[in-house]
Amino acid sequence: MKSFDVPIIYRSPLISAVKKKRKEMDKLKKDFTPTLLDFGPVQIFLSRHFGFCYGVENAIEIAFRTVNENPGKRIFLLSEMIHNPQVNADLQAHGAIFLQDTNGKQLVSFDELTADDIVIIPAFGTTLAIEKKLKQVGIQTEKYNTTCPFVEKVWNRSESIAQKKYSIVIHGKPTHEETRATFSHAAHNAPCVVVKDLQEARELAGYITGEKQASQFYTEFEGQYSAGFDVSKDLQRIGVVNQTTMLASDTQSIADFLKQVMLQHYQLSESTIEERFADTRDTLCYATNDNQTAVSGMLETEADLAIVIGGYKSSNTSHLVELCEERLPTYFISSEEKILSAKDILHYNFHTKEEILTADYLPAKDPVKILITSGASCPDALVEGVINKLVSYFPVTTNTAQLIEQFI
Ligand code: SF4
Repeated sequence: MKSFDVPIIYRSPLISAVKKKRKEMDKLKKDFTPTLLDFGPVQIFLSRHFGFCYGVENAIEIAFRTVNENPGKRIFLLSEMIHNPQVNADLQAHGAIFLQDTNGKQLVSFDELTADDIVIIPAFGTTLAIEKKLKQVGIQTEKYNTTCPFVEKVWNRSESIAQKKYSIVIHGKPTHEETRATFSHAAHNAPCVVVKDLQEARELAGYITGEKQASQFYTEFEGQYSAGFDVSKDLQRIGVVNQTTMLASDTQSIADFLKQVMLQHYQLSESTIEERFADTRDTLCYATNDNQTAVSGMLETEADLAIVIGGYKSSNTSHLVELCEERLPTYFISSEEKILSAKDILHYNFHTKEEILTADYLPAKDPVKILITSGASCPDALVEGVINKLVSYFPVTTNTAQLIEQFI
């Protein structure tokens, strides 16, 4: 896979050495066991896959290059570049300005833009309406468009489903930038509706079978269906795509469930199901698949706790947390600064959307075994920072430099 020119401050000598070694030893990516960093009284088990993905590295490279190559120009980021506060803050420090916040709230009016400005489209992509607005101002978006090819793949998939006259059900978070962008592109080609989870898919099924009153749909799914959506006919043929970073098992459950509803309601069989349900595999990206599978592999290891590092708004990171917390105490942190001491840790509860303080997160035993992973928008340098902070609380027998030697 292509390698990118990402600022060195985001890299970590330790993590780079580990990743390089694992890649050399497992070129076909079949081994999902974690990497053991054995510091003696504390053992760190690093997930096989984690950290910056293709789309994020591509976006970071383009964004920093644009900032460096265009001194004196006004450079706007359509919204948060990626869901990592450090990367976004670094870009702002280089003079980049956000046009919208992550919920689509306008921070700088589009009216203030001129044809001379540069606007960078983030890795999540953007809506057709925003693309049009920028073109109307005379801003060339092509050169500074960092939309991830794996997001574009979802748009292409929905277009091909639409061509076969299926409506599109998008499994995603309705307010997430990527889902809003995918919704906009999908709605251009076919009726579409967003479901955020299996419960919403169940509610949607009530309209497919006619158990629920059609008129109720428009309030229940307000803001989640395309203009002109006719619930009495637009749910008769459907296909499912998803936000690239959803939990694989959730998307599978939703697709299986809706397929089953169509099978029963229309009395179809496996050979005739295509009349009503498009045969789509999930549209999760490779990084989501790799990172989630690697977490499952990591969870095979007996451990005392898990630490997941990433931005609190990061969808893919929250799903890694979800997987870990089913099995063991899990702490979702944005950087090593959240580890306050050997006793206290500040961590994010993404269910309640609040940061909480937990005491005695490190058990009094020897060795303490800690699982670690990070989201696709988290710099490896932050992971190394977390490891160093944890290790500093133990009388270790090996230091980071010695460990790097083992992986070179
Ligand atoms: S998580 Fe996947 S879709 Fe999103 S930017 Fe990364 S590679 Fe692209």
